[in-house]
Amino acid sequence: MKCPTCNVDLVMSERSGIEIDYCPQCRGVWLDRGELDKIIERVAQVTMPPVDTGFAKRMISRIRKEERRYQDNDDDDYLQAQEKSST
Ligand SMILES: [Zn+2]
Repeated sequence: MKCPTCNVDLVMSERSGIEIDYCPQCRGVWLDRGELDKIIERVAQVTMPPVDTGFAKRMISRIRKEERRYQDNDDDDYLQAQEKSST
């Protein structure tokens, strides 16, 4: 594969199980589908400081609560609709 910008051959490199193709001329990096997700996961695991971990946990628990609330609302609406339609 060649760099679309410089038209030189990309150099394949592997960093902790993630395959990357990079251009030695413009230092552009190309990733296969899914490789970016892997990198994001790694970065989140490795570099997330303790303060941010607590913040992330609070955010996740808040999102979970809201999800549950929405589900409850949906159920109520569904039940009410059923009652209305049956009477
Ligand atoms: Zn290039």
